[in-house]
Amino acid sequence: MGAPAAEQSWLGLLAQVKGGGLEAYWRDSESLRCVGGNGSLARRLAEGIGEGRIRLSLPAVSVEQRERDLLVTLRDRTRIECDRVIVAVAPSVLGRIDFRPALPDVLGRAGMGRVVKFLAALSGPFWLDSGRSPNFASDGPVGVTWHGTSGQGGGAAGLVAFSGGRGADSCRAFGAAERVRRYLAALAPAYPGLNDAFTESLFMDWPADPWTQGGYSCAAPGEMARIGSAWRDGAGGVVFAGEHTCPAFQGYMEGALRSGRAAAAQVAAATGLGARRGG
Ligand SMILES: Cc1cc2nc3c(=O)[nH]c(=O)nc-3n(C[C@H](O)[C@H](O)[C@H](O)COP(=O)(O)OP(=O)(O)OC[C@H]3O[C@@H](n4cnc5c(N)ncnc54)[C@H](O)[C@@H]3O)c2cc1C
Repeated sequence: MGAPAAEQSWLGLLAQVKGGGLEAYWRDSESLRCVGGNGSLARRLAEGIGEGRIRLSLPAVSVEQRERDLLVTLRDRTRIECDRVIVAVAPSVLGRIDFRPALPDVLGRAGMGRVVKFLAALSGPFWLDSGRSPNFASDGPVGVTWHGTSGQGGGAAGLVAFSGGRGADSCRAFGAAERVRRYLAALAPAYPGLNDAFTESLFMDWPADPWTQGGYSCAAPGEMARIGSAWRDGAGGVVFAGEHTCPAFQGYMEGALRSGRAAAAQVAAATGLGARRGG
């Protein structure tokens, strides 16, 4: 998880268990993988929209609500007039957009978890030789590990080392020069063969990413009641989407997808446009 238990809303966690289907939550959560990795999901969605209609690496800097429409300004000063605007950025970076009128303060204070990943590329699934599992859990700096490339074929393998909350703080403090050595040392007691199989790694430091400034949303105690339905209600012509707006699947890709469908339906209903089936 992205934060120590004391910093999380129990109501938020219970909403996720209910959203995942109670018993099914424990059985089915995180049980599926995308062939080719999660990026393939984004690529397929982009194909459906039409790549020519998507502008990458060009953030929105302001959203102004005018009498009859909304005006979005991008970093290169492109101005786009809109009937409705769907804002799908994480709450932690809402403050990078100048909303006029301003959004309710409470939205920008929604909690975000701190999570990091160490992606280790390996010559193969070495743990099989010693009959070990790729799933490790500890209260040390690395919280859990898993086989990140299971079912993807090929001889090489990837082991993901995930840390959240205080564990993430510890791993971020390793520093670039010592990082690989410290990670391998943290995993060595469980995986004596790791050093030999290790080829290279990538450290994903989500709290340091200027466009997420965290991992995924992680409601703080009292937050579910404090924010309540504010995400769903929107603000004038602004409609919100993103995993943080979907209490049943907060913190999951499923929440992001469902929120996108809900936002599209909201815009369609408000503007009289027919939502495409399944869209
Ligand atoms: C380490 C880690 C592990 C995870 N593990 C899982 C898992 O096992 N299963 C699972 O389902 N989910 C997992 N998640 C969560 C999942 O990645 C998120 O729930 C999902 O990506 C949220 O999608 P989103 O569209 O709401 O937000 P994002 O993916 O954050 O998309 C928001 C986008 O908005 C962009 N943006 C920000 N500001 C602006 C701006 N001003 N203008 C234009 N664009 C802007 C950002 O660059 C970003 O691309 C994990 C996340 C992390 C970090």
